[in-house]
Amino acid sequence: MSNSGGALIRGARGLWQARARFSSKSSSSGIPPEGRMSWMLLPTKKVSKSNVEGEGRTAGQSTTDMLTKAGYIYQSSAGIYTLMPLAQRVMQKIELIIDEEMQRVGGQKLAMPNLLTPENWKKTGRWQSTGDELFSFKDRKSAAMLLGPTHEEEVTAIVKDMVRSYRQYPLRLYQTTRKFRDEARPRAGLLRGREFMMKDMYTFDVGKQQAIDTFHAMETAYRRCFGRIGVTYAVADADSGNIGGSLSKEFHFVNQSGEDTLLKCNSCGYTANEERALSKSPVDKAAGAGQNKRYVARVVEGSDGKVVKQRIVEVAHGHEPSVLKIKRVWPIKSNQRLEIAEVVADHDDSSSGTPSIVATIEPLLLDDCAAEACSSSSTSEAVRGDWHVAKAGDGCGECGGVLEAQRAIEVGHIFYLGDKYSKALDLSVLYQGQREYVQMGCFGIGVSRILQAAAECSSVEGRGLRWPLSIAPYLATIVPVAENSGTKAAEEVFSALGSVCVRGAHIFKDNVLVDDRDYLSAGFRLNDAQLMGIPLTIVLGSGFAESGQVEVQLRVPGMQTMPESPSSTSISSDGYEHRARVKVEDLGEFLSQALQSQCVALGMAEVV
Ligand code: ATP
Ligand code: MG
Repeated sequence: MSNSGGALIRGARGLWQARARFSSKSSSSGIPPEGRMSWMLLPTKKVSKSNVEGEGRTAGQSTTDMLTKAGYIYQSSAGIYTLMPLAQRVMQKIELIIDEEMQRVGGQKLAMPNLLTPENWKKTGRWQSTGDELFSFKDRKSAAMLLGPTHEEEVTAIVKDMVRSYRQYPLRLYQTTRKFRDEARPRAGLLRGREFMMKDMYTFDVGKQQAIDTFHAMETAYRRCFGRIGVTYAVADADSGNIGGSLSKEFHFVNQSGEDTLLKCNSCGYTANEERALSKSPVDKAAGAGQNKRYVARVVEGSDGKVVKQRIVEVAHGHEPSVLKIKRVWPIKSNQRLEIAEVVADHDDSSSGTPSIVATIEPLLLDDCAAEACSSSSTSEAVRGDWHVAKAGDGCGECGGVLEAQRAIEVGHIFYLGDKYSKALDLSVLYQGQREYVQMGCFGIGVSRILQAAAECSSVEGRGLRWPLSIAPYLATIVPVAENSGTKAAEEVFSALGSVCVRGAHIFKDNVLVDDRDYLSAGFRLNDAQLMGIPLTIVLGSGFAESGQVEVQLRVPGMQTMPESPSSTSISSDGYEHRARVKVEDLGEFLSQALQSQCVALGMAEVV
C-alpha cells in the first residue's frame, strides 16, 4: 500500500462529507467522524435469541449474544470471528497495557509469520505429536505447511541463526499475533476460538538460574498486566502440557462460567489447577480393598500393544487416577503410549485379567526431570501416594488446610522451558569455555480471550455489557434524546468532557462517542448505550435545554457507591449502576471526584 497516513485521513473526511449529505446533521461540528455512531458499522437490528449455534447459556443472554448484538463481534464460522471496530478498540487497549509491561521488562516486539513450514516442528517432535489441533495443508508444490498455533520452533530458529555470542543474551522477544488451532470444541465466542489473538513472549538466557530469574520477572510483569486490567484474577500452579518443561503458572479470571477448576487452600492460599493440584491423599492405608481403588498403569508399545512396563497405583475411593501425576514419573518414548485401567477384582494382579482402559496417553516428549525421576522396574505391588486428581475437600498438599474449588477462565500461561527447544533445534552458546544449550521460557496471554472473559466477568445478566475502565472501547457516550437536544447540545457536552481533568490527565480525549443516529428512536439508542457497556453515559434530555442539566449514568465494575457531591442530584444507585443529574459546568468536578478511586484502571497510578 502506498497511501500515506495524511491521504488516508483526508480520504476519510471526504467520505464523511459524502455520508453527511444523507444525514440531517451537519459535518462541520467539533466531533470527529470516529467519535460519531452514525459513522460506525453497528447492528441496528437486534435479534432476541442467540443465532450462534451451540454457544452460551440457554436462558437469558450470553456474553457472546451481547457482544454480537452490541456490534463488537461478528461470527464468520465456528470459532472464527470478525472483531468489529468497537472490539478492535478494546483489543488495542489490552495490547497497549501488555506492550507497556512487556517493554518494562526488556521485551522487544517482533512479528513472526503465521504461515510456517514443518521442518523445525519435525525436529522438536510436535509435527507428529500435536495431532488434529494443527491446521496443516500443502502449498502448490505439494510441500507441507502449517498455520502457527504457537511459535517456539520459529523463534528458536531465528535466534540460532542470528545470535553468535553469549554477550547478546539475555533476549526477550515477543509478538501479538493471530494463532490457529483447530480446537475440538470451539465455544463461547472469543473464549475458545480456532483463530485468536495471543501475545507470546519467548525468553533466552545463559544458565538455568538466569532463566528462572526471568520466569519470576515475567510473573511480576503478568501480575502488573492483570492488575491494570482490573478483573479479579488468580495465579495457579499449572501443568506444562505439550509445551514441556517444569516451572509453569496459569493466570485466571475467577468466574463461574470458566472451563477450568482451581483448587485453593483455605489456609495457606496455595492455588493450583485441579489437573495438577497436590493434595494430601485421602487413601486409607488401614482400609481394605473396598475403600481404595487400584489401577494398573502400563506402558504399551507397537501396534500389538506389547506391555513394556506396568505398575499398580492406589487411589482413594471417590477419586480418579491422575494421568498427569503418573505421566510425570513415567517416561514414555515416542513409539509408546501409557494406558491406565481399573483393577476390577481384588485378585486381579493386572497380569491375569483384562481391566477396562480408562485413559490412553499418546506418545510424549518427556523432559529431563521426569526421566530422572522414573524407575523402569516392573512391579505389581501397589504404589501409594498422590496419584489422584485432587478435588474440593481434600487436604492441602502444602499445609494442613482444606482445598476449595473455584471455576476460572485461563487468560495467561507462563513456562520455564529449560533446554527442551534449544536442544532439539541445537541452539547453544559458548560461555566460560563450555558449550551449553540456551535456557528458554515462553509466556502467553490470550488477548482476544481477555476481551470476552473481561466482559463475562464484569457484566450482569440482563443488564448489558459493562467494561472495566482500563479497556472500555470509549470512556463515555453522549446520547441526545430530547427533540431539541441535537448536534449543538452534543457538541457542547463533547467539548465539556474534553476539558475534564482527572489528576492532571484529560482522560476523555479521543474517548467519547456521540450517538448521533437521529434515524433511530431515543429508546433504541438508550438501550444500545446500556448494551454497549461504555462506563459513562450522558443523556441529554429536556432538562438540558431548560436548565443545562444532563443525566449521568455510571456503570463501572467495582464502583459500589457514587460519592455525594453538591454539584449533583442522585437519581438511583444500586451497586451496578449509578444515576445522577449534573449541570454541564459541574461535570468536571463531579467526574474527577467519582473517578478518583479508579486511577489504576485509568492508567494514572501504579499497580501495588
Ligand atoms: P487452553 O488450556 O485453554 O486450551 P492452552 O494451554 O492451550 O489453553 P497456551 O498454549 O498456553 O494455552 O496459550 C496461551 C494463552 O492463549 C492461554 O492462556 C489462553 O488465554 C489463550 N488461548 C489458548 N487457546 C485459545 C483459544 N482456542 N482461543 C482463545 N484463546 C486461547
Ligand atoms: Mg489449548
